[in-house]
Amino acid sequence: MEPTNQSADWHVMGAAEVCAALEVNPRRGLTDSAVVQRRAAYGDNTIQEQHRRSLLRLLLSQFTDFMIVVLIVAAIIAGAVGEIVDSIAIIVIVLLNGLIGFVQDYRAEQAITALRRLAAPTARVRRNGRLHTVASGELVPGDVVLLETGNIVPADLRLLEVVQLLINEASLTGESVSVEKNADSIAEAQASLGERRNMLYKGTIVTQGRGVGVVTATGMATELGKIASLLEEAGDGRTPLQQRLTLFGRRLALAILAVCVVIFAAGLFRGAPVMLMFLTAVSLAVAAIPEALPAVVTVTLAFGARNMVRRNALVRRLPAVESLGSVTYICSDKTGTLTENSMCLEGVFAAGAMHKKLSSHGELWRHLGIGLALNNEVVLDGGGAPMGDPTEVALYQAAREAGFDKEALERERPRIGEVPFDSGRMRMTTLHDSDDGVVAYVKGAPERVIPLCEHVLTEQGITPLDRQEWQRQAMVLAEQGYRVLAIAYRHWREAPEDVGEQLEQNLTLLGLLALIDPPRAEVADAVALCRQAGIIPVMITGDHPATARAIAMRLGICGADDTVLIGADLAAMSDEQLAAQVEALKVYARVDPAQKIRIVTALQQHGHFVAMTGDGVNDAPALKRADIGVAMGRIGTDVAREASQLVLLDDNFATIVAAVREGRRIFDNIRKFIKYVMAGNSGEIWTLFLAPFLGMPIPLQPIHILWINLVTDGLPGLALTAEPAERGLMRRPPQPPGESIFAHGMWQHMVWVGLLIGAVTLFTQAWALRSETVHWQTMTFTTLTLAQLAQIMAIRAGRESLFTVGLFSNLPLLGAVILTMLLQLAVIYVPFLQPIFKTEALAAPDLAFCFAMAGTVFIAVEAEKWLVRRGYIYR
Ligand code: ADP
Ligand code: MG
Repeated sequence: MEPTNQSADWHVMGAAEVCAALEVNPRRGLTDSAVVQRRAAYGDNTIQEQHRRSLLRLLLSQFTDFMIVVLIVAAIIAGAVGEIVDSIAIIVIVLLNGLIGFVQDYRAEQAITALRRLAAPTARVRRNGRLHTVASGELVPGDVVLLETGNIVPADLRLLEVVQLLINEASLTGESVSVEKNADSIAEAQASLGERRNMLYKGTIVTQGRGVGVVTATGMATELGKIASLLEEAGDGRTPLQQRLTLFGRRLALAILAVCVVIFAAGLFRGAPVMLMFLTAVSLAVAAIPEALPAVVTVTLAFGARNMVRRNALVRRLPAVESLGSVTYICSDKTGTLTENSMCLEGVFAAGAMHKKLSSHGELWRHLGIGLALNNEVVLDGGGAPMGDPTEVALYQAAREAGFDKEALERERPRIGEVPFDSGRMRMTTLHDSDDGVVAYVKGAPERVIPLCEHVLTEQGITPLDRQEWQRQAMVLAEQGYRVLAIAYRHWREAPEDVGEQLEQNLTLLGLLALIDPPRAEVADAVALCRQAGIIPVMITGDHPATARAIAMRLGICGADDTVLIGADLAAMSDEQLAAQVEALKVYARVDPAQKIRIVTALQQHGHFVAMTGDGVNDAPALKRADIGVAMGRIGTDVAREASQLVLLDDNFATIVAAVREGRRIFDNIRKFIKYVMAGNSGEIWTLFLAPFLGMPIPLQPIHILWINLVTDGLPGLALTAEPAERGLMRRPPQPPGESIFAHGMWQHMVWVGLLIGAVTLFTQAWALRSETVHWQTMTFTTLTLAQLAQIMAIRAGRESLFTVGLFSNLPLLGAVILTMLLQLAVIYVPFLQPIFKTEALAAPDLAFCFAMAGTVFIAVEAEKWLVRRGYIYR
């Protein structure tokens, strides 16, 4: 039988039969050549997205805007009845404009696709007899896949081996209770999906345990793929800011159209040619309606996201980029995020004393060594380096150094059962067969292990246990900042019948393990930066309250008088009680991940915008609930990653703070862009709208209007997004979420600068008309272009003067401004362009006059910022 991607009754077959049918040796996995062959035959293991915009559609979408269509049609008609050159010039400019839009959109889409590829899930497979981590999309039927707690099942699989495997199949069956899976074949061919206990389906979640399975179907052939076409489209994918801007843009467009109608009517009234007036009005509408706003926001966000990846913050959802700047609370795990997670066993408290090293003499030390070696999930990677939870790796290493080698010991004492670690239980048990019966080792949080112990093993033998004394000892170690675990064992002559939590009683305590996990060097600074920026860092940990406090104090998260709330007390509080206290709490210890969601909710009730980190399956609800869910890229599970908006590739708290800073910068730059475009466009409108009322002829030709739109909005506007962070960016309070983007003086700025640009342009026109220069229109045109360039230089910094931030601190923008200026001069002075653009060469004094007029805009905006700095206006 050929390996197949078609559904077959895999659940009825035995494991060996399945592997034979899929032509794979389950011990070695597929060979590379088989993988290549099957990928060619079955394609990617992905659920096809329904709408991918083709390049052509993306290009066409640039020209389907209603006003642009009207303009093109009008230009063609005008060309047919009159000046061909005019209409061709107009159409060329419109096409150029569309092309710029297309390039922007295309680059944004590329950036987003690249991010998506980075965020793609991975799977652990056995191929060529070795373990590999591959992108889930590259799996093929017959691949042997290893799964563990927190994985999202990457394809449809027939199980070969399981260890207490619990799967949540809600995404497929709607059943929210996890089901236990096994590798036994099922007699009934008609069994429903939910009843096929030996099958795993793509998209379901491993909530506990481990398993190995062989891929039976990939991509669209999976059960998920079959229903994917029925799934609803997920939202329109636009960020809140984009949605607000789209709405704003629509209203603005109506207003602009109304103005254009007035300009058209006024022109006719004064006897201007109909076609010219129509083209003028439509060109103005095209130029002034900021249809590109949402697109520019996308570009800015996408490029921002790309910058963030360079700093190890992977954005999974674009809206996170714009909302990061609003974060007021960062709730962070301790282990690995605030600390290095490079655990090291510093000492063992056993037999009444602290020991720096394990020894190998006597019953007590033999048990300690064996227990540390066996009670963990550490495995060796291809190169022989231990892989796993850093706490466990530390213990494994310490045991190995004392001569207790896990691999060797496991051959004599094979694991015959286990009760896995779980953040809620805070302990784990492994059960081993040996020559003289069965031994269980239990390790975990002291207060979850010591109460289960009846005796303690000392160098003299087994003696009764003084629980209080041992708890006190654990406390002393925790207060010194150690991560403390207790380890115990139990012995049976005969194997116990039932393997489960009831094993964990009547234990004999062996000792306490003191691990040190140093705080990350950069975190203390990041915490201080948060403080300045009005962001409160909070530590939420499963660790002991004394350890938590010691570390939190070292990092500056809390002071000596702050309370540390422990999970049990949190559980006893009502939501109201928690909400009353939550703003004063900086450290939570012994917290069960399920409680994190209550902390987030309580903070949100106070209007806070909360970022929350997490790594495990149980963290997912809190990550979803948080305003910014932050998953650990290294130690995090698939499930946590899937639930989050941001993934920390280095698991580092400081990276969150860097991302917040970047988010603020991006948000600032979007505001600057809007400020620039709106003031410039309204300047153009004022010019054309007011001229007839001041008794002057139409100031500009349609081609001028379109040209200004092309050169000022395009490059300089985009270069504004490259603006570096403002000074004091992290010294101001977070931007309240949902606050209008026009707050803090922005709309006032847009209005008065727009008026000013209109005024200097009209003044130029009036002055030129009075002094009877023949080229008054060229001067008006030039002033309007230069005035916008003057404004953009002045608004680069929101508060500081341009000379403080430095003329050269945004080279792309400086380049764009110079280029635009040169293009403008070219249009005026290059002879063959003159007839096309209806311009004439300006004499030096006239050109100087235009520059001077534009310069007043720069000076006026700098003056505004001076007033802002002095605190006279806005905020
Ligand atoms: P954190 O890592 O922030 O301390 P966890 O929820 O991972 O939070 O762990 C909670 C507690 O469970 C730890 O403080 C420790 O006492 C205990 N613990 C952690 N890892 C293990 C493990 N691998 N085996 C046994 N106990 C563990
Ligand atoms: Mg942990």
